[in-house]
Amino acid sequence: MISNLIDNESVTAAGRFLRGCSQAVIVTHMSPDGDAMGSALAVRHYLEQLGKKAVVVIPNNYPAFLAWMPGAQEVLNYEQNKDAANEAMEKADLVVCTDFNTPKRIGILGEKLLSLRCCKVMIDHHLYPDKFADTIISFPSMPSSCELVYRLIWQLHEGKMPDLPVEFHTCIYTGMMTDTGNFSFNSNYPEMYEIVGNLVRAGVDKDAVYNSVFNSYKADRMRLLGYCLYRKMEIFPEHHAAFFCLNRKELYKFNFSGGDAEGLVNLPLQIKGVHYSCFMREDKVYESEQHLANGSKTKIKISMRSQGDHPVNTFCADIFHGGGHKNASGGEYYGPLEEAVNLFMQNYKKYFN
Ligand code: 5GP
Ligand code: MN
Repeated sequence: MISNLIDNESVTAAGRFLRGCSQAVIVTHMSPDGDAMGSALAVRHYLEQLGKKAVVVIPNNYPAFLAWMPGAQEVLNYEQNKDAANEAMEKADLVVCTDFNTPKRIGILGEKLLSLRCCKVMIDHHLYPDKFADTIISFPSMPSSCELVYRLIWQLHEGKMPDLPVEFHTCIYTGMMTDTGNFSFNSNYPEMYEIVGNLVRAGVDKDAVYNSVFNSYKADRMRLLGYCLYRKMEIFPEHHAAFFCLNRKELYKFNFSGGDAEGLVNLPLQIKGVHYSCFMREDKVYESEQHLANGSKTKIKISMRSQGDHPVNTFCADIFHGGGHKNASGGEYYGPLEEAVNLFMQNYKKYFN
């Protein structure tokens, strides 16, 4: 039996907004991942089943390995389609925010979001939500926002899921799978598999989802992976930490594109005794972030992963103005790669033991 984890008051309030709207926009975070796309698209499929108009707006593009997701082709990318996205948001009588909990995570789309007077519902699993939405469904202990979306709809319909298309279920499965590393962390409780059982029963081809997401890399990406591990990885055994970084020239050499970084930071955790892993790479400053960059043309994207009771979110928050989950966090640095590397080197010993 799937328990009712979300409090009744929030379920009732969210239900009122979802059922009461006629034209909704769903927004998710910058550089959307499987859980961001999955949760946003699942809400869209649900609203459409209720007979509503619903459009997904993303701050910048999703990686190529998510292009197959049902509905991905129709999302409005704010960087490429600002006018259409602005129009949809201005017309909307509801905005649903999934997989982020602060306007800072959506770049300049944040200003637009805050300027809208319509109702807002947040469905998210990160710590410390900003109180910018009318209804906040925030569950930091939930492994994925997709599971939270499923549970919300489950509770809204009192345990009898409405007749939703397989596209909805596939989107939910994708986020549950990606945010748990294919059910290898944050995934040790039976109810998760009851939900997975329901999804497979509803027609999800879980093996096909796995193949679409994890077995669709370019050869260049595999060579980049080899290069990182062979040439770039440093290990600090006394602090159980591993570190590697890539500058623009290296990325160019391997024809790097956004999604190619996915999963690289996890690899050093396969080494016995390594509990913390950090990966930094040079990135361009996107238009939607220029106001954050103070003139810097370079952004350093920091990704960290850890295992068990070895948090990385405090390090990311303190040193790189970032945050995230205990075992999967990130941050940004606007300036040269060397400066960001130095910051890591000066501080990791205090945090990692
Ligand atoms: P990734 O390493 O996959 O980019 O990010 C892992 C997790 O860290 C994300 O799900 C998100 O929770 C968090 N995260 C990544 N980058 C940032 C950031 O710049 N700021 C904050 N607050 N969290 C981040
Ligand atoms: Mn997520």
